[in-house]
Order: sequence, then C-alpha cells, then structure tokens
Amino acid sequence: MSNSVLAGLVEGVSTGSIQIIDLTETLRPEYPTIQLPEEFAQAWGFKKETISHYDEAGPGWAWSNFSMSEHTGTHLDAPHHWVTGKDVPNGTVDTMPTSQMVAPVCVVDCTKEVAADKGFILTREFLQNWEESNGEIPAGSWVFLRSDWRLVADPDNYTNMQEDGAHSPGPDTECVLWLIEQRDVLGFGTECVGTDAGQAFAMEPAYPCHHHMHGTGRLGLQCMTNLDLLPATGAVIVSAPLKIIDGSGSPLRVVAFVAA
Ligand code: MN
Repeated sequence: MSNSVLAGLVEGVSTGSIQIIDLTETLRPEYPTIQLPEEFAQAWGFKKETISHYDEAGPGWAWSNFSMSEHTGTHLDAPHHWVTGKDVPNGTVDTMPTSQMVAPVCVVDCTKEVAADKGFILTREFLQNWEESNGEIPAGSWVFLRSDWRLVADPDNYTNMQEDGAHSPGPDTECVLWLIEQRDVLGFGTECVGTDAGQAFAMEPAYPCHHHMHGTGRLGLQCMTNLDLLPATGAVIVSAPLKIIDGSGSPLRVVAFVAA
C-alpha cells in the first residue's frame, strides 16, 4: 500500500501529472527584511561573501559564506517565535514534528480586495463565504492569504510603511480564533513580510495571528511568492525548515505539489 503511494508520487512527478511549484523568494541582499520600531533590535538581512571563486583563494572550487536572521526571506515561524508559544512542547524548528512539514493548503484569493485596499483585513465572514464555494477548510491545513503582493506593493516600500505604520493585509482576531478553534488549521501563510496585518499592532491582542497561532502550537509562513499558481484547494505544501538549534524560525524552500 505505502509502496504504491510513493511509487505513484514519483511517477506523477516524473510524468508531470504532479507539478512542483516553487513558492520561495530568492535569498538576495535587496529583498526587504521586516523593520521593527527603532526602540527594538533588528533582524539581519541576507548577506553573502565569497570564500573563493576558482581563484588563488581556492583554485578549483567556488563557495561562499552567508548570514541572515531566522526570519529573513521566505521563512517559517515556529511557536517559540512568540512569547505566547514559548512553552509549547517541540515548538522550535529543530524539534517540531516532521509531520508538520507536509500538509494540504487552502488558498484564499484576496487579490481584488488588496488591490482596492493594501491594508485589507481578512475576516471570519470572508472565509465562510470562501467555504461556500470551496468547501470547509480541513483540519491540519495551511491557510494562505493570496494578495499577489509583489504586484501591488511599491518595491521601494515593500511593507507599505505610512506615517501611521505599515499597511498590508492580514487577519483580525476573530478570524484567527475561528481558524484555530473551529477549523484546527496547521498555520497561516502570506506573501507579505508578516502573517499579521501591517496595522495589527493596534489590534486586541496586538499581532493576533502571532499571538494565537503560536500560542496554540501553530506555524507561520511569510515572504512567499507564486501563490497565484496554486488552486484554491488540493495542493500539498512541503515546508522543511533548517534544523537550527532552539530556532524560532528559519528560511526554507517552500514548494507545493499540485495535480496537473
Ligand atoms: Mn517571522
């Protein structure tokens, strides 16, 4: 049984009846890293330095060192990222269950709403309307907010920072609690630099997606791309973070298996 399931997967990939979509941004210095208010410490962006490049530092080989934060580029947030999740068992990237690294996804198309309002707030009611057309969000799934953010945001102001803070889409508290309590999701994902809305500092509690998702052992995925290539339902996400000791999160390659 299991042998035939795996053989079917391998055959599907080799024949193209299963496509593998890359949801990952290229790690590069110019990709924006989240900026906190200046009283807080900041995360490192991506930096790469050549060790040798077929030259006198290493005539036969090319390699580089790189540095970045656990939350730079396309990355996963583990429960220990947030204070509410600090005591969640196996809540770091080196201890999280490997079963969480493969999961179905529901992709909620919010592109029209975000085009009209970059600070669009995702509500329980919006998701219930989505379920009318797409069926109930299954337990253990990812929910991704599709915004096509790279087409909407100003590349020189990717978080859409204004005088009153960032304006980018995300869920409100009621929506987050409904996803947890009524749908038992694995986590929440987005193309923006955070799973919470840009204005979520002013919500109750502040940053409800981080607060409640991580407080209940759930995950986040941020800075993804290509969500427009995914169906609303039926794709499977593979997201295996680096095994950083006590890691609060990790850059990773996120891919989706999609039946062609
Ligand atoms: Mn993060």
